[in-house]
Amino acid sequence: MRVASIDIQGFKSFAKKTRIDLTEGITAVIGPNGSGKSCVVDAVRWVLGEQSIKQLRGKANTDIIFHGSEVLPPARRAEVTITFDNESGRFPLPSATVAVTRRLTRDGESSYQVNREDVRLLDLQQMLAQAGIGAKTFTVISQGMVDRYITASPAERKELFDDATGIKPLQLKLMEAHRKLKKTQQHALEIETTIRELEPRLKVLARQIKRYEQREKIQEAFTVSQVQWFSHAWHNVRQRLTDLTAQQAEVSRTIKQARSHRETLEKKLITGTGTHNHGLHAELTTANQELAAAQKIYNERTHARVQLEKLIQEAQLQLQRADKALQAVTTRSQPLDWVGNVTQLLERCQKLLLKIAKNPATTTTEAEAMADQIQESLQTLKNTSADTLIRSAADELTRPAAELARIEAILEERKRQLDALPPLEAPSSAQVEKLTKQLANQGAVPLSEDSLASQLSSARQNELAAERADGALEAALEQARIDLAQLENDILRERGSQALSTMQQKPPAESGHTPSEEELRQLAGKLAALGEPDPLVIKEYGEVEERYENLTAQIADIRSAATNIVDLMGTLHTQMQKQFGEKFHVIRAAFTRAFVELFGGGNAELMLIEEGIDISVTPPGKRSRHIGLLSGGERALTSLALLMAILEAQSPPFIVLDEVDAALDEANSQRFSHLLRERCHNTQCIVVTHNREAMASADVLYGVTMQQKGVSSVYSVKLADITETDMGQAHQEISI
Ligand code: ATP
Repeated sequence: MRVASIDIQGFKSFAKKTRIDLTEGITAVIGPNGSGKSCVVDAVRWVLGEQSIKQLRGKANTDIIFHGSEVLPPARRAEVTITFDNESGRFPLPSATVAVTRRLTRDGESSYQVNREDVRLLDLQQMLAQAGIGAKTFTVISQGMVDRYITASPAERKELFDDATGIKPLQLKLMEAHRKLKKTQQHALEIETTIRELEPRLKVLARQIKRYEQREKIQEAFTVSQVQWFSHAWHNVRQRLTDLTAQQAEVSRTIKQARSHRETLEKKLITGTGTHNHGLHAELTTANQELAAAQKIYNERTHARVQLEKLIQEAQLQLQRADKALQAVTTRSQPLDWVGNVTQLLERCQKLLLKIAKNPATTTTEAEAMADQIQESLQTLKNTSADTLIRSAADELTRPAAELARIEAILEERKRQLDALPPLEAPSSAQVEKLTKQLANQGAVPLSEDSLASQLSSARQNELAAERADGALEAALEQARIDLAQLENDILRERGSQALSTMQQKPPAESGHTPSEEELRQLAGKLAALGEPDPLVIKEYGEVEERYENLTAQIADIRSAATNIVDLMGTLHTQMQKQFGEKFHVIRAAFTRAFVELFGGGNAELMLIEEGIDISVTPPGKRSRHIGLLSGGERALTSLALLMAILEAQSPPFIVLDEVDAALDEANSQRFSHLLRERCHNTQCIVVTHNREAMASADVLYGVTMQQKGVSSVYSVKLADITETDMGQAHQEISI
């Protein structure tokens, strides 16, 4: 790879489009002071991406644009193109030549191009660095810069060596990775802040949603229970309607029968009027007598029942008291009081039994025998000592209690018998009287025909009762119908028509729990307490949750990207250290060799110290000394020795040396030229020089002149075609 040509236009003193074609080997650029030789060097430095205007000997960026001369107006823009042949493929581009262009307009518009395509400065720098070229590297060594390697501090020197050892591309990658890492960390920080801001809101919303979910479960339970309840209720009402309808049918039949019976009796009565007066009269009389007899029995039995109930009540009370007293005996030791109590009790029992005896249910003899028995027991108790009495008290007490129980059983039996008596609702005397009057009004109805009338009365009563029952049933049916309609309305409102028709078709499940109204009320209360779900809250929760999840996923990606970058940085760092170490080792050895060669002896060494890189020199025959104590020429030679060492180690595709040999005497200049040719067989050299020895060692000679005042121009001479005398003349001509 080599520089094929440099095109300059509008750059510093090169107002017009100027091309410098270059060959391999050494090209010497010569010319009088101020003719524009260094402008060529500046142009190369600039096009390779130099950012420091100071390095280009200007103050403002636009200082590099041709600012006009006596004959030419200022240029509107500066443009420099350096064309490399890329046959070796050192630039990773599929073209045989690579043209790098930089432009700057007066209004400050700057651009870079590679093969006429716009590129970013960073991309260009990376591409050049990969090929071992760079504005800041030793590629372009200007006047005075050569001893920077020597005069620089160890730290600054270390930086120069970063270029020299070719770790610059790695450094650029590292810087890029560092920049990316910072950007990634910044991004992560922003996302984490957003996540932190979202979290409290998400928590609040999640709590709300949880309540909604609970509500949903309760709602489900409520729905199931409500459907079950409705279903049971509906079928119950339906059953009630069916039962009532059946009852009504039964009652209708009864009414029909009662009516027909009544009509038969009426007919009988009417037919009997006049011709069967006697029979009717007899029936009425019998009815009256039956009525009276029934009334009497009824009254007696009612009285007996009341009496018996009273007695039963009293006996039960006494039994309770006796029982309490018995308990008191077992828990307290009050025998004497107790004896008194028992005596009283027994006396009362005796009276009671006598009373019972008066009742028709028991005979007097039985009662008296019982009373005697109790009396006897009482006497025995009185004659017994207190202790014995206490001991036997319980036994004694159980006896009357057993008697009472027996009597109670008898009374119960009596009561049952009373209850089993037929209804005492015989035709009332008023009714019999009314019937009799009716017959009398129809004429010649004898009073003795009351039996038929009584039957009629009874029939009418039955008919009336049946009709009343029918009325009551009708009312109940109506109520059931209302209930059913109301229930169906409720079902439709709450559960819809589908649910209603399902309930109507299917009976409720026999098994399982049938919810009560209270349970339903409780569930409804819980639902009301939890409130209706807010669709806006649900929507917001969905959005916030999605955002949160996205951000969380993003942060995970970013963290993993950051880890990758850190890993890459680690790898780059290791690579850099390794490469630096290896190259530094080579440069150090080459420097010592070059120094000895240029100085014709002595020694020089490069040392890696904590602060950077240090140099120790010992010119031949002299003691080791600090670099600052060297003469100007010695310093220049040391610098050139270092430059040669770097060139040897790095083997860059090309270098530009701007009067680096200015401080050398003829002998040293010759040694340097010799060394340059020897060491730079792989590097294209562009050397700006006033030195004859350097000119003599060049392959191509370019002259720079200002034939037009303030405007530089170049012409070339191939040295291989001319003699040394011609060359001297040529140089003299150019100088003039
Ligand atoms: P020396 O041998 O003394 O180092 P040189 O040949 O290297 O001289 P340069 O340093 O290149 O000369 O200077 C060339 C001339 O270019 C100078 O006279 C300078 O004034 C001129 N110059 C610099 N910038 C501009 C510009 N923007 N427009 C026009 N001329 C400029």
